[in-house]
Formats: sequence, structure tokens, C-alpha cells
Amino acid sequence: MPDRIYLDHNATTPVDPRVLEKMLPYFTEIYGNAASNDHDFGYEAKKAVDKAREQIAHAINAKPEEIIFTSGATESDNIALRGIAEKYVHKGDHIITCVTEHKAVLDVCEKLEKLGKKITYLPVDQYGMVDPEDVKKAITPGTVLISLMFANNEIGTIHPIEEIGKIAAEHDVFFHTDAAQAVGHLPIDVQKMNIHLMSMSGHKIYGPKGVGALYRKKSNPRVEIEPIIFGGGHERGVRSGTLNVPAIVGFGEAVKIGGKEMKKENIKYREWADYILTELKKEVPDIKLNGHPEHRLPNNLNISIPGIESRALIVKLKDVALATGSACTSAKVEPSHVIQSLGFGDGRAHNAIRISFGRKNIQTEINQATESVLDQISKLNLFKV
Ligand SMILES: *Cc1c(COP(=O)(O)O)cnc(C)c1O
Repeated sequence: MPDRIYLDHNATTPVDPRVLEKMLPYFTEIYGNAASNDHDFGYEAKKAVDKAREQIAHAINAKPEEIIFTSGATESDNIALRGIAEKYVHKGDHIITCVTEHKAVLDVCEKLEKLGKKITYLPVDQYGMVDPEDVKKAITPGTVLISLMFANNEIGTIHPIEEIGKIAAEHDVFFHTDAAQAVGHLPIDVQKMNIHLMSMSGHKIYGPKGVGALYRKKSNPRVEIEPIIFGGGHERGVRSGTLNVPAIVGFGEAVKIGGKEMKKENIKYREWADYILTELKKEVPDIKLNGHPEHRLPNNLNISIPGIESRALIVKLKDVALATGSACTSAKVEPSHVIQSLGFGDGRAHNAIRISFGRKNIQTEINQATESVLDQISKLNLFKV
């Protein structure tokens, strides 16, 4: 019996051993600066970066020169939103986003509002999905960007990205998507989906932390970005700073492995999600699924258990690591903005747990975790009466 079961892969993933193996030589042997063009040390580092760039571009049907390496999806979101807002001031000052976005988008929008930009926060339906018609209606002559996440990190809901991309293209508005949870997990085609900018992260897909990328379309239409970090003009002037070669090598390998294994893994994850939900419902029939029943990340299961405070549940769960539907700030427990936006009230968020599967999980862990959760639910219920 494993003594600790990790079911929080939407928060972060372990580095895949195959990824680590590719990275290791780049710490101690091939340690050149990818920007040094005076010797082979630099050339070899650049070659490795170029390979990762090709792996990532290939996975999303982009061109290698459209991939800009960053420190992660947070930075990519910042560059995309701030970079467009600043570059296209002559065109307009309006951005469309959604209430369920990650804070890496919402907090940037808040900052942009302080700088005088207009932001529309689209609502979602009870499954956390945005209505493409709402996107269309929100577009004004001053709209410069639509920023909508590919798949939600809390409830897994996958937005109708292709439809939204089509709307953006028809209205000559750029379309950015935060795909931190989607790249390496779901098939993505930036051409077919009319995506102009896309944020990606290494550590959500069995790559290292502290590395990510921004896809930026280079032609038809060409997307210009005003940089937010200056100093040396690396990454086509969009993101200066010496490249983290080992992390980039790992990121490229992680994307490649994800592409090969996602189909098989997703079938397994969906079975596990269905199994857990069915087993829990046998004991607590009014458990609610948060997120879309079909259009959802296969490795995500977010449920609210009526009458069970999720914080109380997870402190008792000694052998299983999973997440709650709330975030502890210094002063109080804040219910998740994502689950609140579904329109069922705060209770739904306070009762929510997020279970997210990963590559190393095995069936016996899923069984044990289900039993542990059931056991704690019955204990907490007993305690109440
Ligand atoms: C994890 C995550 C981020 C942040 O990515 P980092 O690489 O950790 O900066 C942004 N958006 C979504 C949807 C995420 O899941």
C-alpha cells in the first residue's frame, strides 16, 4: 500500500524520468549560453533550444519561430495581455476575458483597468462554459484582444476554442488562450483554431517548473508585442534574458511525450473519474460535479459534497493529496472564484474537492483514495449528528 497518494496534478506534476534524463547533460556538460555565437559551447546550447522549439511548434501546428520561451504560463499571460494592450493602443483599449480565468490573467486585467483599459468579464453557464454568442456580442470597434483559457485548472471545463477563434478572426480581433492545462494533454492546432497567442507551462505536463512558452502568430495576421522585459533582445526581442537551457530541453521533451501518450492516458483518467464519482454517489447521492460533464479535462474531477467542509475533509485525509475549492489567504478562507461563478452560491465552493490524476497513478491508488474519502465522509457525517 502506498503511504501517500498524489492526486493534485492540476497544481503541478512530477518531472517524468525520461524528461529529466534529457535535461541532465545541459547542467554540467553542455552548459553554454545559447546566445553565445563565438564558440561550440554556445552553438550546442542553441541547437538544443532549437530542437525544443521545434518539438513544441510541431505539437501545436505552429512554426518554430513562433515559440517564445518564458518562465511559465504566468509570464506568458502577462506578456500577451500587457504586450498587446500597449502595442495596439492606436486600435483600441478593450479586452474581453472571462470570470473563471486563472489569476495570471485576471490580475493582469485588474492592473490594465487601473491603467485605463476597459475589460469585459464574460459570465459562464452552470458548467463553467462561456457562450460564443456572448463573445461575439461583447466585441466593440475598440476591442484588441479576446483572452479565454483553453481548459480550466479548477473544474476542467474546456471552452469552445475553435468557435471563439473563428469569431475573433471574423472580427479582426486577436485571440489569446491560456493553455497551461491543455498543451500536452489535449490535441491543439493553433492554425485550425485561429489562435494568435497561447500560454504554455512546463510543470503541468511532467516538465520542470519555471519554464513555459508563448506562441505568437507571425503571419496572417502578424501579431506584434510590446515587451515587458528588456535587456539583450533574446527571443526576437519579446522576452530578454539568458535562456534556461536545461529547463527548455525538458519542456520540449515533455510536450513530445505528452503528444504520444495523451490519448491512452485520457481514456484511463476518464475511467477513474467515472469510477470515483460512481462510488462516492453510492454513499452520498447528492454529490455534485463541478465543471462540464463531457467537455472537461479527463484528468480532472471536481465535486462538491453537501454538508462536508472540504478543508475539514482534507486535513483528515492523511494518505491522499488533493485540493479544495477554496484558497487560504492570510486572513480568511476565500471560496474559489471559479466555483462561485457557476451560480450555486458559496457553499458549493466550500464543499468542493478537486481530484486530478497523473501519469504515475495506478488503479490501486485510485481505489485506496476512494475508500479514504468515503471513510472520512462517514466520520464527518457521524460527528455532525
Ligand atoms: C498553472 C497555471 C498557470 C500558471 O502557470 P505557471 O507556469 O505556474 O506560471 C496559469 N494558468 C493556468 C490555467 C494554470 O493552470
